[in-house]
Amino acid sequence: MSQGTSPSSIPIQPAAFFPPRNTNHPVPSGGHGTIPVPMAGPAPFWSNVGTVRNETTGHNLGSRGSTTSAIDSTSNSHILFGEFTQLNEQLDYMDDHDEHADIASGDRLIDDSLVNDLTGMEETNAEPHAAEPAQSSALHNQLVALQTRLMQEEAEHGKPLCYTRGDFFDRPPHPIFALETCKDTTGLKPEPLYWRKVFVWLPHLLPGHPETFKCVCNMPLTKNGRNTNPIARRVRAMPADFFLYTNCFICDPRRVKAPGPGCGKSFQGTDPHILEQMPEFVLTAFPGFISARGAISNEMSREMSNMFAKHFGPAPFAKLVSEIQHRFHADIELMYLGAAKFWGQRGIKPCSPFDDPNGYAGAPPSIQYLKGMFTDKVKAHRVFIDRDTASKPMTFAKTDHTFDYLKGVAGVKGEDIFNAAYSAGNEFEEIRAHSITPTKSLAYVKGMLEDIQEGLKNCNNPPTQILYTDSPQAERSFHESINQSLLKDVEPVTDWTDLPPFSRTSGVSAYSTSDSMSIEECANDILTHVIDHAWVVPSQLALIALAIKTDQQPGEATRLRLIQLRTVDKIYVFNVQSLSVCFGNF
Ligand SMILES: [Zn+2]
Repeated sequence: MSQGTSPSSIPIQPAAFFPPRNTNHPVPSGGHGTIPVPMAGPAPFWSNVGTVRNETTGHNLGSRGSTTSAIDSTSNSHILFGEFTQLNEQLDYMDDHDEHADIASGDRLIDDSLVNDLTGMEETNAEPHAAEPAQSSALHNQLVALQTRLMQEEAEHGKPLCYTRGDFFDRPPHPIFALETCKDTTGLKPEPLYWRKVFVWLPHLLPGHPETFKCVCNMPLTKNGRNTNPIARRVRAMPADFFLYTNCFICDPRRVKAPGPGCGKSFQGTDPHILEQMPEFVLTAFPGFISARGAISNEMSREMSNMFAKHFGPAPFAKLVSEIQHRFHADIELMYLGAAKFWGQRGIKPCSPFDDPNGYAGAPPSIQYLKGMFTDKVKAHRVFIDRDTASKPMTFAKTDHTFDYLKGVAGVKGEDIFNAAYSAGNEFEEIRAHSITPTKSLAYVKGMLEDIQEGLKNCNNPPTQILYTDSPQAERSFHESINQSLLKDVEPVTDWTDLPPFSRTSGVSAYSTSDSMSIEECANDILTHVIDHAWVVPSQLALIALAIKTDQQPGEATRLRLIQLRTVDKIYVFNVQSLSVCFGNF
């Protein structure tokens, strides 16, 4: 559109209600009452206009809001009146349809977003070095002693004593009892307070284990001793990390007995391939989620899922874990110092700082670590999440666009690829499908909505019967074309829809009239009946119920409209709003 075009030659066509920054992008057209379809739009006029000018009066019309202030004023400096009208219409449309300002807010950097937190995976997210106990540190010594003891217990009793006690955890004594023991033997020392509990996972000693674990090559696996470096794996948890201790299996290549040598592959007892050979109810006891980069406890993993879903991202979560772990360490130190004071022990070894690798060796997970673990977990469970989502019903659908988090998604050379996201929820507030789209146009989600209906059929769920959307007038025909069951048994909603259906006692006839003569006759009948029967049957009711309905026009007095009478054997409805008088033929 050039400056010289006359207003009459400008076709006023509905255009995008948010300005595309790249005119090659498909933009939605359409407005009130129509479904926008993707099309290559004309160059938006606001990309090269400055001052808004009324050609008829020559007056500048000024700018409105941020849309015109963002316009590049170095280009052509006029907007034609027709275009201005069109712009106003679009802004009005946005006022009416954009209550959360998610269309209009435009570009802005958002500091704290779920998506921002999840991106940036190029940063280092491997397990921090401090996670593994340093050689000859207090924790390393604990694990060495534990391994020796566990192997001894297994040799003597067939299984670790913690299993005999009915516990997966081999727990160090509580600081209070550890301190009491120290006091009586070696004198107070802080090392026993650094010890962590150890989850002992020896699959071949657990209920329901298979006779022999199988390798991926289907040959039997043999036990292949224990791990030495590290002896056990640190699992991130609150208030303090714990260790996960397991054994190894090998598909023995040196085997001479039947069935012959194996392929040489070795497995940890925590390897998914070993775990999947255990019964499901035993697996439920497995204490955490393990990936190549680390391990977190089930509780922490669930806390992350719940919090990340509510915009409490990895950054504050990392702080939370750190705070709680530091607090736990502070309590231990307090108990140690309190015990020394209580028992009058002087010159004791100080309790180690939280992060001393040779002492307490606290190492709260970093933000990157938590991001990485969360991503790993979602990736690992994705197929199950998808399957679960696809089997959900959607008898009542709730659909809407959102724009907010797309601003946090990277584009190509600063150009967004996706500007909108579309969610379809069901009657249980579960998301049944979610899709990110280049624009707000519904054409992009047609396939997704068709797939949902197909999926509902495949899972024996009823088709969607009611659909809620924020612009039903505009979207009605679109949704009805995708799902014909929306057209079935439609009952228009009225003021009385929610009332119970009306019924009257059978055998009681109703009589309605607006004729004044008939009304008078009926009134006479009623009175005659009362007079005739009043002394015969004293309890006889003359009138069971009376109801009136009134009307009031603005500025007028209230007028009686209907009178309803219920006698023993009849219902009378008198319309007295427009009384008619029927004259007989004289
Ligand atoms: Zn093998």
